[in-house]
Amino acid sequence: QKAEWNKLKNEATVTLDGKHIELAANIGTPKDLVGVKDNGGEAVGLYRTEFLYMDSPDFPSEEDQFIAYKAVLEGMEGKAVVVRTMDIGGDKELPYLTLPHEMNPFLGYRAIRICLAQPDMFRTQLRALLRASVFGKLRIMFPMIATLGEFRQAKAMLMEEKAKLVSEGVSVADDIQVGIMIEIPAAAVIADKFAKEVDFFSIGTNDLIQYTMAADRMNERVSYLYQPYNPSILRLIKNVIDASHKEGKWTGMCGEMAGDQTAVPLLMGLGLDEFSMSASSILKTRSLMKRLDTTKMAELADKAINDCDTAEEVVALVESYTK
Ligand code: PEP
Ligand code: MG
Repeated sequence: QKAEWNKLKNEATVTLDGKHIELAANIGTPKDLVGVKDNGGEAVGLYRTEFLYMDSPDFPSEEDQFIAYKAVLEGMEGKAVVVRTMDIGGDKELPYLTLPHEMNPFLGYRAIRICLAQPDMFRTQLRALLRASVFGKLRIMFPMIATLGEFRQAKAMLMEEKAKLVSEGVSVADDIQVGIMIEIPAAAVIADKFAKEVDFFSIGTNDLIQYTMAADRMNERVSYLYQPYNPSILRLIKNVIDASHKEGKWTGMCGEMAGDQTAVPLLMGLGLDEFSMSASSILKTRSLMKRLDTTKMAELADKAINDCDTAEEVVALVESYTK
């Protein structure tokens, strides 16, 4: 089977009915690009920049960040790279950033919330990204967005830094897409509002599922509630994709669910535009997608969302469609 998959390395991902779907990779450092190439990744759908911070004894300088972002953009040779701004907090700590002790770190001070409260650190990252933008096809993504206000504030800071750089004579690309992760149910519910202002969405199911089901993604005791195929999750995903398409925008997914072989047929049916996963899942997913018809998968997704009551029923339905 591996040999069969390997033949698909240099192929585009085209479904049985001829629809192109973008299969992208999640990376944590520039070194991960080797795996992306080896597995035929068509883009980087999530560059988790927090590793840059976690692997450093102090805040990485603008220059250090610029070097890393430039390396990834150049390495992808003009293919899209979605860079997520720092997502510290929750389970990820930094030795040099003292965060308050919290009862519920996953519901607390993390990601964009830290960035908006400590703008110096955030602006340094934004400047590094903007300077790197001329070396490839950069897309900037903000994590853990709950409200439009947060997005507007983050985007305004980005635009301010861009204007400053331009006035300093630094060249900055002017086709940078700016999007958000959809990983908080509040944002998924009002995706239609967000869709008017963002360039794209990327659904972070790892967090979206934990917040929707109110079940800690690390807690074994409640892991039975961690249900990617629960109709509630599918409905949220559908809402996000439909809202983006209404505004002519695109939706990707960068949570684990994007590479889940049971979820892929459903997500194809819902019209997901980009799937981003660990590089090692790309070829088997491409192989699966080539065997599936999007119209048939749309019918499957419709039934899953409207007729199924439970995650178990959804799984059985998917199996009946793909076997
Ligand atoms: C997610 O929440 O699905 C996601 C991709 O982000 P992370 O796993 O880094 O929280
Ligand atoms: Mg997340």
